[in-house]
Amino acid sequence: MSDLATHLARLDGHLARFRETGILNLIDGRDAPSDGWFETRSPVDDSLIARVALGQAAQIDQAARAAKAAFPGWAAVGGTQRKAILHRIADLIEQRAEEIALCECWDTGQAWRFMSKAALRGAENFRFFADLAPGARDGQTLPTPTHMNYTSRHPIGPVGVITPWNTPFMLSTWKIAPALAAGCTVVHKPAELSPLTARLLAEICHDAGLPPGVLNLVNGMGEGAGRALTEHPAIRAIAFVGESRTGSAIMRQGAETLKRVHFELGGKNPVMVFEDADLDRALDAVVFMIYSLNVERCTSSSRLLVQESIAPAFLERLAGRVRRLNVGHPLDPGTEIGPLIDAGHMAKVLGYAATGRDEGATLVAGGNRLGKTGCYVAPTLFTDARPDMQIARQEVFGPFLTCMTFRDEAEALTIANDVAYGLAGYVWTDNLARALRVSDALEAGMIWVNSENVRHLPTPFGGVKASGIGRDGGDWSFDFYMETKNTALALGHHPIPKLGV
Ligand code: NAD
Repeated sequence: MSDLATHLARLDGHLARFRETGILNLIDGRDAPSDGWFETRSPVDDSLIARVALGQAAQIDQAARAAKAAFPGWAAVGGTQRKAILHRIADLIEQRAEEIALCECWDTGQAWRFMSKAALRGAENFRFFADLAPGARDGQTLPTPTHMNYTSRHPIGPVGVITPWNTPFMLSTWKIAPALAAGCTVVHKPAELSPLTARLLAEICHDAGLPPGVLNLVNGMGEGAGRALTEHPAIRAIAFVGESRTGSAIMRQGAETLKRVHFELGGKNPVMVFEDADLDRALDAVVFMIYSLNVERCTSSSRLLVQESIAPAFLERLAGRVRRLNVGHPLDPGTEIGPLIDAGHMAKVLGYAATGRDEGATLVAGGNRLGKTGCYVAPTLFTDARPDMQIARQEVFGPFLTCMTFRDEAEALTIANDVAYGLAGYVWTDNLARALRVSDALEAGMIWVNSENVRHLPTPFGGVKASGIGRDGGDWSFDFYMETKNTALALGHHPIPKLGV
């Protein structure tokens, strides 16, 4: 197994070319510099990774035009051929998985143990949608006595994909792979805080034989390149992953050109532990689902609701686990929690720790910065919280868990549903009837019973309320990236109403 020193040496080799050229946009199959630059820095030590071409409305226009020009050709490529190209992309992701993971860790602060798997999950996303590509256009036959109706699906056109900085490579593949499989062309605007692996993905797609203009990459700010993409008339739809309030802005920006939107937004997901649960397994899952991926993870279980009768013992064991979490360098294979994405986000998380204290919750662990270099925050645990506290209602998106207790099932459900969000819910109980009742009543798009988040790609992924609009996964992704057309073919000479005779 590689150690930290080996990882750093290999990373240095991968970054050398970016130090030279900067991270360029890729438009119509070619490197496309911009008029200006911005910087991407590592949250490990604030060192400069590379300068990044700053895309503005002009570069978005260039990319959208390229995507529009490439669309008829790519839409006409047979599903089998699209499948082959998408599998080649997956092959190349696997070949470069170590490079992708090293760059992702350095750019985002995420720990190697998770990013090495996330890079491979990117390949899996491409393989999954590659295999669906040949059947993507399939429709239904809906006969009547006079007509044969048949439906067919068609790619909606050039689409914009706007992604956030948390696990950016995996999330980008999760959006781009189904769009390409459906026959859409894409303009990708990655998060300004984590541009590195989006560039690697664009290069890989290009090297795998994706025709020029089918996937275009434009880096830039949300208010610049992001806004321009959502307003561009050639772009038919926007797939967006990010904060709920950014989703609202995108909806407004896209209104003029009637954009179709797909939103994966924020969450404040409850994990409910009932007294009849397998408490050892529940504890493992609670710790994993809140402290993995630095909790910069939309499906993290950031609210723990534990039944009063078992709360003292369960919370004591939890506190012990939290204090033993291994915070360290993201490229050290032993690290469980790395630095947060940047100083601004670290300040936000520390601000919530201050809020929690002011609100009267009990700080059991963490709440402070670790060290003077880098964006490290000690894993934080608050107990004795009330459902009306900000730390129990707002998305913190850092290593920060808020615990509350409940008397019975009814109270647990009231607390769980009393937030703006509705992405995921986790239920721990050995009572099957309760599991079904609670799952049914929870206001969330995805529920896991007696499990941490385990993704199965054919299942629908998405949220309700302020957590999103639309579903991804399996055929649900094609519902977004494709239009359904009905064709009615007369079977004979049915009587046509005569006017003007
Ligand atoms: P963000 O909303 O700040 O930014 C996301 C992207 O939107 C970035 O690329 C940004 O440049 C762009 N953007 C910002 N303003 C824009 C505008 N006006 N027009 C167009 N684009 C604009 O989100 P973030 O801080 O990068 O990511 C964290 C958030 O993402 C959290 O709330 C998290 O829960 C959410 N998230 C949700 C899911 C999910 O599946 N539901 C998955 C991952 C992350």
